[in-house]
Amino acid sequence: MSSDAMGRRIELEPDCEPAFEYRQITIRKEKWVTDEFELLEFLGRGKFGEVKRCKEKSSGRFLAAKFVSIVKEQEKKDVYNEIEIMKSLQHPRLIQLYDVYENPSKKQICLILELINGGELFERVIDENFILTERLCELYTSQICEGLNFMHKMNILHLDLKPENILCLSKDGHRIKIIDFGLARRFNPTQTLKVLFGTPEFVAPEVVSYDKVGYGTDLWSVGVICYVLLSGLSPFMGDNDGETYNNITKAEFDFDDESFDDISDEAKDFINKLLVKDLSKRMTASQCLDHPWLKKSIAPTPEPLAKEKIINTKNLRRFVIRRRWQKAVNALLALKRLGLNF
Ligand code: AMP
Repeated sequence: MSSDAMGRRIELEPDCEPAFEYRQITIRKEKWVTDEFELLEFLGRGKFGEVKRCKEKSSGRFLAAKFVSIVKEQEKKDVYNEIEIMKSLQHPRLIQLYDVYENPSKKQICLILELINGGELFERVIDENFILTERLCELYTSQICEGLNFMHKMNILHLDLKPENILCLSKDGHRIKIIDFGLARRFNPTQTLKVLFGTPEFVAPEVVSYDKVGYGTDLWSVGVICYVLLSGLSPFMGDNDGETYNNITKAEFDFDDESFDDISDEAKDFINKLLVKDLSKRMTASQCLDHPWLKKSIAPTPEPLAKEKIINTKNLRRFVIRRRWQKAVNALLALKRLGLNF
């Protein structure tokens, strides 16, 4: 429970019913998505293809169709990995898989996903009519940690947590969901897993140095997301990727900017315990949920209203605009990868 800066109490709406019952999913090759779904408007573009709203012809149910174009055999293995992982992740904070179609002649796979209507979290909070407060940041962060806690209990790492992968369930509530398990991996703590991917600003030092990753790798990204959400500033951003990687490796950051003046010490302590170079020393998702900063957000009585401070989203707006440009560049690179040049 929380309250906004105008004194209106903000309650985290109860979890709605799952979008659909648990489904046993097998990859369907005998039919293509258009046989059973009407494709509607464009929702977004990922690294390997676009996402469209769609309507199931038999039930009238609205869902999202994520298309992935397969150029190399490895890409097919990656999508199969994403599907396998999604099958084992049934949780209200994680996007749910509804069906999968594969069209070998078109070299395309289509994942039918639960539709998430509220758009990207960061796009929503920079809207001029939206009032962002620290309490809301707590609510969002605790939900990210809930989803991550479940994934980690299932021994799965997300490995690509970033603002674009946090969507709002609706345009007026505060429920969020984690999406995009395209880079997720099953994790066996007794074995060494190394990865060479992720989005520069959000990757942990062990990814940059190609060392062993673990649960803490996702928690680093939570720390970065939280830092950006509260201040609009990116803690390790350099003038180019090389400089960013250098800054991440040093794991040095501060709260010196005036954007942090009104941010609570608990929030800073929370971030301090995540942006730690040694991944074994970072808080786990479960420890995050027990941290005083997040505990407060689920406390039965809201804080006195006078303590609510509005977060100035001027910097965050700049951050989102820069990310939009980055996404546009990535989309062009993705088209180039498919052989479509401009
Ligand atoms: P992805 O390829 O999964 O990263 O998705 C690319 C973009 O499409 C996301 O950043 C969202 O803006 C949008 N998107 C993906 N999945 C959904 C969904 N299930 N419902 C609504 N929008 C989505």
